[in-house]
Amino acid sequence: MPSGITCFDPAQRRFLSGPPQPDHIPVPPLDGVLSTDDADLTWAAEDFGRVVRHRPLAVARPRSLRDVCAIQRFAHQHAIPVVPRAEGHSTGGQAQSPDGMVLDMRGFDTVGPVAADHVTVEAGARWSDVLTATLAHGLTPPVLTDYLELSVGGTLSVGGLGGTSRHHGAHTDNVLQLDVVTPDGSHRTCSPTVEPALFDAVRAGRGRHGVIVRATLRLIPAHTHARRHILRYNRLSDLLADQRRLASDRRVDYLEGKVKPDDSGTWTYQLEATTYFTPPSTPDSPRLLEGLGHITGGDTVTDTGYRDFLDRMADDVALLRTLGPWQHPHPWSNTLLADHTAEELITRTLSELDRQSLGGTGLALVYPILRTRLATPLLKVPDTPIVFLFSVLRTADSPDTLTGMVEHNHRIHDRVTASGGATYLDPIPDTEQSPTTSIP
Ligand SMILES: Cc1cc2nc3c(=O)[nH]c(=O)nc-3n(C[C@H](O)[C@H](O)[C@H](O)COP(=O)(O)OP(=O)(O)OC[C@H]3O[C@@H](n4cnc5c(N)ncnc54)[C@H](O)[C@@H]3O)c2cc1C
Repeated sequence: MPSGITCFDPAQRRFLSGPPQPDHIPVPPLDGVLSTDDADLTWAAEDFGRVVRHRPLAVARPRSLRDVCAIQRFAHQHAIPVVPRAEGHSTGGQAQSPDGMVLDMRGFDTVGPVAADHVTVEAGARWSDVLTATLAHGLTPPVLTDYLELSVGGTLSVGGLGGTSRHHGAHTDNVLQLDVVTPDGSHRTCSPTVEPALFDAVRAGRGRHGVIVRATLRLIPAHTHARRHILRYNRLSDLLADQRRLASDRRVDYLEGKVKPDDSGTWTYQLEATTYFTPPSTPDSPRLLEGLGHITGGDTVTDTGYRDFLDRMADDVALLRTLGPWQHPHPWSNTLLADHTAEELITRTLSELDRQSLGGTGLALVYPILRTRLATPLLKVPDTPIVFLFSVLRTADSPDTLTGMVEHNHRIHDRVTASGGATYLDPIPDTEQSPTTSIP
């Protein structure tokens, strides 16, 4: 074992190097590395949220399928929780393992080959790499998250929503087959027809029912360009009304919305409607905007390449990294609201927020998804024909503001669930923490 870790001491619950004592359990040989280095444990205790920090007992960096099976089997036999992790963009410790091992899946990043309507990728691949490979064949995943540097395994473990979800559902609705290593160390292949219970337990299963090692993803033909309209509104009710109007409308491919305070602290409401196209054909902008209630003359329109549109966060992220807020805590709240409750819940939440309590660069995302498109059993979704994703994305610049934001998130979540809505991307409650081989 390259790291020198040789055994596990079950009494002290720690991994050790050196010759095993009689009551120590030898760890299996690995192609990859098992580490208890301080830098690795610190890395595994951090995520994008920087709200909770739990150091694991060890970090495993598997290099082969055989490694993943051996680690899972060993951990299962000795009651050591194993939590897979990739890009660590969770915001509440979802990929941390306080009394167990973190399995760093970033080494599993092979993409392809690309076929006519699907691609098989390893779970640690990032969506940006998947997109690069598929666009070379004129193909694209039907749904992409706003930020492309998330891993395939990471988003398949939570859902994966984006501006085209109202047509195509979540990432988890666009996966055709998964290769999974279950907590008992067995390598199994599942799909809607082969081991469907396992398939349903792993999609949006938050890594607790098995490690995804490979996924076969649905692809559709890609356009080369995107026309992006940004429409402005004076009132939330007008924004929501147009989002409902466009929710099942095919004239727009991508639909999202943003609410943020302007320099004077007044809330501004924006709808983002993007249509994909391939020249020489171009979208008919007047028809696109027909019947909508935005502020006349307040809209902007830009044409970009398809990939540039999908990767539109890259420049902002680079700036936030340079200026610092990207590295600050992110106590984000993500919820899915029942349609008839959306306006009241968003209005009430905004009344409790201002520029300062959003953390300077913060904003809220609001967009509709058709309920019928979301068919992943473990993805909790309210039972109304249209549901609204409502995300409060904020940054804390001090421990005190962080505590206040986290408490506020709890109040938002209580209110949303009491009104028939659901939380999205939430950490697993302690009562459900243990990994399990049983498939719900
Ligand atoms: C800037 C930013 C933008 C985002 N935009 C969107 C968005 O537009 N839409 C959206 O839906 N979400 C969005 N998210 C949330 C994001 O989809 C989730 O946090 C996602 O889980 C992150 O993927 P990751 O690779 O960083 O996963 P990690 O944080 O490493 O892990 C997340 C979860 O997945 C599990 N997991 C990871 N790999 C595997 C695997 N191979 N097998 C089984 N389980 C695994 C982990 O155990 C954990 O429960 C965004 C997050 C950030 C920080």
